[in-house]
Amino acid sequence: MYLYNSATHKKEEFQTHTPGHVEMYTCGPTVYHFAHIGNLRSYIMEDVLEKFLRYSGYDVNRVMNITDVGHLSSDADTGEDKMLKGARREHKTVMEIAKFYTDAFFADCEKLNIRKPDTVQPATGCIGEYIEIIQGLLDKGYAYVAGGNVYFDTSKLQRYYIFNDHDEEDLAVGVREGVEEDTNKRNKNDFVLWFTKSKFEDQALKWDSPWGVGYPGWHIECSGISLKYNGDYLDLHCGGVDNAFPHHTNEIAQSESFIGHPWCKQWFHVHHLNTNSGKMSKSKGEFLTVSLLEEKGYDPLSYRFFCLQSHYRKSLVFSWENLDNAQGAYQKLIKRVAALDPGDGTVDQAVLGEYREKFTQQVGNDLNTSMGVTLLYDALKAPASGATKLAILESFDQVLSLSLLEKAAAVREEQAKVKAAQAQAGYTVTGEGDPEIDALVKARGEAKKAKNFAEADRIRDELKAKGIEITDVPGGAVWKRV
Ligand SMILES: [Zn+2]
Repeated sequence: MYLYNSATHKKEEFQTHTPGHVEMYTCGPTVYHFAHIGNLRSYIMEDVLEKFLRYSGYDVNRVMNITDVGHLSSDADTGEDKMLKGARREHKTVMEIAKFYTDAFFADCEKLNIRKPDTVQPATGCIGEYIEIIQGLLDKGYAYVAGGNVYFDTSKLQRYYIFNDHDEEDLAVGVREGVEEDTNKRNKNDFVLWFTKSKFEDQALKWDSPWGVGYPGWHIECSGISLKYNGDYLDLHCGGVDNAFPHHTNEIAQSESFIGHPWCKQWFHVHHLNTNSGKMSKSKGEFLTVSLLEEKGYDPLSYRFFCLQSHYRKSLVFSWENLDNAQGAYQKLIKRVAALDPGDGTVDQAVLGEYREKFTQQVGNDLNTSMGVTLLYDALKAPASGATKLAILESFDQVLSLSLLEKAAAVREEQAKVKAAQAQAGYTVTGEGDPEIDALVKARGEAKKAKNFAEADRIRDELKAKGIEITDVPGGAVWKRV
């Protein structure tokens, strides 16, 4: 597989430290609020990446943190603690908030067919690991204590700006955010490893440490959790593109300074979901959640389908119109799959193998998911038996996870039920009876579709006069003589 690596700014052949095995880490959510669908775009694409690696024969160990402490409202060390903000907003404790939104996050993931990582670790569960790393960094001279906090000293690094070529002035966090600078810092981009002196008097979660009672900074949790569960050699680190700086930059600084050798080979960043007014974010008031999509009548998998149709390294523009189009296409796709007959022929293993090969090559070109979707349509048109086509679709769906076969089976079952009920009640399925009546029933259906209800009613009356009763069923109408 070829994958763009944000650390080298190049598309590279994917390689792992241990052949055939991938150690993968994903930055998880800060559980102070619902995830918005922009956040979830990253998790969808990371899920596809993980499943594609498994599909290609790798054994994958995937780890994710849950941020339940230490993340301030700026990604640097300024602003309010996000968890405290959530707790205050809802008059609950921080741990109640963490539990509620962690559950909500995984419920959303389930609706979007996102597999739960092998290890999910809340940040508050690894305090001992962070203390060990921070002590190691102090011992090696990469960290210092000032004003009661422990800071990482970025001037000790030969290369700090891993992901971008901007100069220091552009990226200096204090300047960029337009916020008060922490005067304890020796260098502008130094960051907090451990807080003891916090401006938040009501910080609920505190632990004892060699530097006093306090809590960890945000960045250290990912280094601590990954080193614990992935080991010292990480193959693939994922996150949203806004995590690249300063969060991932700081993770690299900490991890490599602590372990003393290069840490992660491959960095995968998913770009933003934008609305017409800019990047989707929680700070802009109302934001879009999976529940909101459902309330509006959308299948969450339509959103997954929408995301798969564009490349993860391009910003994606969300609008209701775009989602309508995706939902329409997704439903049509399911109908086409439902129209395939599982009893038609046997699976042609050679054709299946050919399609698998194409899929592996095309999607393996920097996770080109839209090509994966195109191949779904190609498979539907293939000169092959129903059984073979369904086997191809099932194979692709191991990666795309659109529940195509399950949904198609449900449609077939529904259609069979409708047919059985109609037969029992003496109804005739339109198209299977008197051509003259069928034509009128069809014309009424078209009038209804065009919202010409007067014409639809007129045809119904005409049929009634002929002694025909019609009834609407999913996908059309059926009729009988009364
Ligand atoms: Zn992280």
